[in-house]
Amino acid sequence: MDKIVESNATLTTPAYAAKAAKSALVPWSIERREPGPHDVLIDILYCGVCHSDIHQARDEWGNSIFPMVPGHEIIGKVVEVGPKVKKWKVGQTVGVGCFVDSDRTCEACKAGEEQYCESGPTLTYNGYERDGKTPTYGGYSTRIVVDENYVLSIPKGIPLDRAAPLLCAGITTYSPLKHFGLKKGDKLAVVGLGGLGHMGVKFGHAMGAHVTVLSHSPGKRADALKLGADDFIATKDESVFKENAGRFDFILDTVSADHDYNAYLNLLRRDGTMVLVGAPDPQPLSAFSLIPKRRRLVGSMIGGIRETQEMLDFCAEHGIASDVEVIPIQKINEAYERMLKNDVRYRFVIDLASLKDRT
Ligand code: NAP
Ligand code: ZN
Repeated sequence: MDKIVESNATLTTPAYAAKAAKSALVPWSIERREPGPHDVLIDILYCGVCHSDIHQARDEWGNSIFPMVPGHEIIGKVVEVGPKVKKWKVGQTVGVGCFVDSDRTCEACKAGEEQYCESGPTLTYNGYERDGKTPTYGGYSTRIVVDENYVLSIPKGIPLDRAAPLLCAGITTYSPLKHFGLKKGDKLAVVGLGGLGHMGVKFGHAMGAHVTVLSHSPGKRADALKLGADDFIATKDESVFKENAGRFDFILDTVSADHDYNAYLNLLRRDGTMVLVGAPDPQPLSAFSLIPKRRRLVGSMIGGIRETQEMLDFCAEHGIASDVEVIPIQKINEAYERMLKNDVRYRFVIDLASLKDRT
């Protein structure tokens, strides 16, 4: 490692990248910065594959920076620390989620909600460092350099491949359930049983809610019940929207594709809350889906560092981890296609040993 630093002052790192919107991901090489005084160098073991990786690699949100190395569900081992690092030691198992820095001074950062940083968090990939010009590259690579304050500790007992998706899918579903006050006995509906949805079911169950999965895939019923749901509704039959009107206190909508929000809002009882975490294209909304029952429609984005650590500790305490299919990185394009066909139970996780072997 030292030799590489001396020779070129950056760390040449194998990766997989999308070179342009809609082009397949291909092997590529990136330069990681030499760890600074407060940086941690992490050897990446596993990286989860989030639907946001597909949205961004295919420029579906219109803000993509290419070439792009996706990946924001990162698990690895600390292999080097800068001289001023206090929180981490070589050999520790750590995680990195959706952002790697923020301005640290705004109200959101001071409140520990760096994901809402007023000048914008530094996204783990498809973003720029605080200098505004150095692109960030994510976890489809063998190592990453991150400021010590944006690194998470992975509690013992969670298998590392199954811990990776907690860094995005986990915190994105845990945070709104806590923030909007899901209570024991509440009737919670989780819409969409994918990477986020299956974590929503696990957390809802662990928090004592009565959990119902609303899915457009009737074949997921048995899985939903195994994951901790109490009930399952197949939404292909439209009569279920009438039958279940006004039933739920809380709806967690994790769907990645266009769908009718109004139909789901009508399933909320008086003062019920529907949280959007899924991020499809803008959808039409009728004021009368909200007005008659004083319903709330809200959104939520991942979670801050403090809350992400709390979520990881909650997972260790409650025996929660993601259900994963581990793949070599060479299968990433196939994995994207399978996710788009709804053929994943319930998160792909890349084993980065496959990339190390290649070089
Ligand atoms: P995923 O694993 O692909 O799951 C999405 C689920 O949506 C599918 O399993 C499916 O569930 C449902 N779905 C897909 N196509 C559908 C369709 N045409 N009609 C109805 N339902 C459909 O994706 P994910 O990784 O969980 O991500 C889900 C969404 O959350 C994405 O848009 C992603 O960008 C977003 N996201 C947001 C945040 C945040 O901070 N807010 C963080 C991470 C991800 P069923 O088969 O059960 O219907
Ligand atoms: Zn994600």
